[in-house]
Amino acid sequence: MSDNHADLIVLGAGPGGYACAFRAADLGRKVVMVDPRATLGGVCLNVGCIPSKALLHAAEVIREARHGDDWGISTGRVSVDLDKLRAKKDSIVEQLTTGLVGLAKRRKVQTIRGTAQFTGDKSLEIDGTAWTFDQAVIAVGSAPVRLPGWPEDDRIWDSTDALELSDVPKALAIVGGGIIGLEMATVYAALGSKVTVIELMDQIAPGADAEAVAILRAALETEGVTIHTGTKVTEVKATKAALTLSCDGGYDGKIKADAAIQAVGRRSNGPQVAPEAAGVEIDDRGVIPVNVSCRTNVDGIFAIGDVTGNPMLAHRATHQGHVAAEVASGHAAALDTDLVPSVAYTSPELAWAGLTQAQAKDRGVDHRVASFPWAASGRSLASGGGDGLTKLVYCPETQRLLGATIVGRNAGELLAECVLAMEMGATLEDVALSVHAHPTLSETVGFTAERALGTLTDL
Ligand code: FAD
Ligand code: NAD
Repeated sequence: MSDNHADLIVLGAGPGGYACAFRAADLGRKVVMVDPRATLGGVCLNVGCIPSKALLHAAEVIREARHGDDWGISTGRVSVDLDKLRAKKDSIVEQLTTGLVGLAKRRKVQTIRGTAQFTGDKSLEIDGTAWTFDQAVIAVGSAPVRLPGWPEDDRIWDSTDALELSDVPKALAIVGGGIIGLEMATVYAALGSKVTVIELMDQIAPGADAEAVAILRAALETEGVTIHTGTKVTEVKATKAALTLSCDGGYDGKIKADAAIQAVGRRSNGPQVAPEAAGVEIDDRGVIPVNVSCRTNVDGIFAIGDVTGNPMLAHRATHQGHVAAEVASGHAAALDTDLVPSVAYTSPELAWAGLTQAQAKDRGVDHRVASFPWAASGRSLASGGGDGLTKLVYCPETQRLLGATIVGRNAGELLAECVLAMEMGATLEDVALSVHAHPTLSETVGFTAERALGTLTDL
């Protein structure tokens, strides 16, 4: 056997790749992990989840300070030292990516900096050097979609550019009102940009519950964000003075901006590993199809994370990484992808899992809905939480939860209870009779279940 042989080789060191490599090493495998990036952690740690959440925290601090006046607390004019904020964000990223190096070393996972491409179903090249392997896991992630026909201009950003925080543009146009668009709108509006979001569909966060989204939209508009839905950008012109976006549809006119973020989705990096050389099936969007055990069509080759398509979320990639490591090591494992929670870390947060009301209706699923408005939550009012809503979709026959949507402060944290309830097949009664501490925001989940059962006394 040549020196360049791997028992299990993982292509990509993002949350899918490193979770898979570490789990496989813990199961006694000799693992090699390859990634061209200078640091481990993929998109999520370097240019995704973590830096965006650091900036969103800063945005929340700014907002809290600005709204202190409502409570008789004045902090004076809030000013932001952009260099310090950028350094803080970068230091958090560095702390986490450096931590991964230690975790890899302790597990004796060999990490190689380079780009891998298959040359056969048991062989590949890393920057031109030949390797063989027994099993491989493709975890090469995704990249931002670029809109065609836009000029080349430094003021046109993708999410990575936006997270660099090189500047706070006076006027910022964000094309795409999905999760990235809304999170960046939250950050830059707090930093002082006049933000305009342009969304093609009739609703921002198109997959989420319409009633909850309306609450988020109103909150963003209160913070000065202009939102145009059902709107298409037909032309972009760049002059020295500004970018001009011509729009058509819901908004018919021109938007002048000092910078524009394209946030219209991400595409799989699948084609970059030359999957055809290994006989691995790939579709015309670059997505590598897998079964619930993360197996591709080729025996011994697995795929996980964004490269396997939607939902492109870090926690899904991580769970798939564990599944692939376990299955590759002879254990039985699978991921039920219907129950992957989504969270927009906006202000307020928007979180959902399972079926939304609209999805249940569209799919003809027998369902009922109960909700609890946060205007009746003591904790929300007492902590300046603003508007919010907790909503459960359930089966009238079994009383089991089918889906949950929460919009409001810390909604992402609160959703975990609903996910556990759905995972465990809990009924409304199980949720309602679990004692929730008072006053907490988590009470709203219990109250919603009580409302469905007709036992609620708090409304
Ligand atoms: P990635 O993290 O993309 O990692 C893939 C790695 O593969 C990369 O490091 C890449 O360099 C490497 N690679 C590419 N080609 C090759 C090759 N040929 N050979 C070897 N290696 C290769 N998700 C959440 O769940 N929560 C969030 O809050 C969140 N926030 C986000 C914010 C932003 C701005 C963005 C852009 C994304 C965010 N996401 C979030 C999505 C999340 O980052 C991805 O779902 C997640 O990173 C996918 O993990 P992955 O392991 O599949 O791929
Ligand atoms: P997305 O798919 O969530 O949203 C893209 C939005 O752009 C959609 O609303 C879509 O209708 C709209 N759009 C598409 N083409 C358009 C056009 N030409 N003009 C105007 N609008 C257009 O994608 P994203 O926000 O770019 O995020 C990419 C991926 O990263 C997603 O899978 C997302 O789940 C993930 N992500 C997750 C988090 C999180 O979990 N908090 C944060 C950021 C990103």
